[in-house]
Amino acid sequence: MQKDENQINPDVQIGQMGRKGRRGEKILGHLKVAVGENHQEIRLNYFGIWGVKDGPTLLLNAAVHGNEVVGVEVLREIVDDINPKELCGNLLVVPIVNSLAFDYGLRCYPNDNIDMNRIFPGNTDGTMTEKIAHTFFDVFARRADYIIDLHSAEFPDELIPHVRVRVKNPSSEYLNLVASTGINAVWKGSEVEGMLQTEAHRIGVPCTTIEIGSAGRITRGNVELGILAIKNVMRILGMLEGTAEIPSRQIVLDLNSAWLRSPIDGIFRPATKLGQFVKAGETVGRIVNPASFEEYLLISHLSGIVAGISHQPIVQPGTRLAIVVDFDRDDLTKHLVELPALPNSQLKENEYLNILINELN
Ligand SMILES: [Zn+2]
Repeated sequence: MQKDENQINPDVQIGQMGRKGRRGEKILGHLKVAVGENHQEIRLNYFGIWGVKDGPTLLLNAAVHGNEVVGVEVLREIVDDINPKELCGNLLVVPIVNSLAFDYGLRCYPNDNIDMNRIFPGNTDGTMTEKIAHTFFDVFARRADYIIDLHSAEFPDELIPHVRVRVKNPSSEYLNLVASTGINAVWKGSEVEGMLQTEAHRIGVPCTTIEIGSAGRITRGNVELGILAIKNVMRILGMLEGTAEIPSRQIVLDLNSAWLRSPIDGIFRPATKLGQFVKAGETVGRIVNPASFEEYLLISHLSGIVAGISHQPIVQPGTRLAIVVDFDRDDLTKHLVELPALPNSQLKENEYLNILINELN
């Protein structure tokens, strides 16, 4: 599984501002990217955790989109928790890649309004967003054996936690990384040029994108899910002691499905939870106009899983509110992918399937 050519040597200094890391050490480094429009220094802050034994180099990053903060909190806890004396291999952690967008609490840096996850590997002569992307890709992604890229749904939506597969002809190593997260659902979309996972795949580094929670919103459950996914991967890669628990089958969702939208102004009150099964004709939520008391029931037109829901209660005509993804309970096999047996792991039933199967009985 390990590649020699990209194997990081813990004695190698990263960037001009980071000090050398030694085995068994955890360091905080700052890497200068550029000088900003207001003459401030733009930096990438990172942590290096150098294990005492050999193993792969895993890069963990979050906030490529500046307001997707669940991953930032996940990585803060991971850095705090991992003891380098119990680690095999190395962790490189960049909790906030798009620091300029993060400072504004926005998905993209408003001065160039470029979606960083469409322009990797970046450009040294480009805009600030392109310069940051270039430094991140060149210094960190190229040094990694594996990458976990943490994202959240766009504000104000929340999607069912899932792993995204957005590369053409994924290798078994890549698919094993997706399975190793232990996340219950997967979305397979088309390849997108400039996406971190696509460009990392192009240079031979398996990179998986995990989508947890909603932009601008941190919940304990979502943070714990992210921590567990990273530790599952680390256990399966032999970086951490312990046994990963992964579902024997992942649910494959088509998140390109149409959203249910509000036809009126008002306040949205969901009647379902993420991951819940609804039948065609069932109510997903209601919109009530607080002035006229006009009420509209949001009805699902198909039987399936509630895979997305909006957290913004104030809605206008056309506001997207929920997404129900087709799921035929009588033909489970067409929605499921069997996961391979992986080292240091044991299989469990998919928690969403457990709920669906219980509802069937
Ligand atoms: Zn994102």
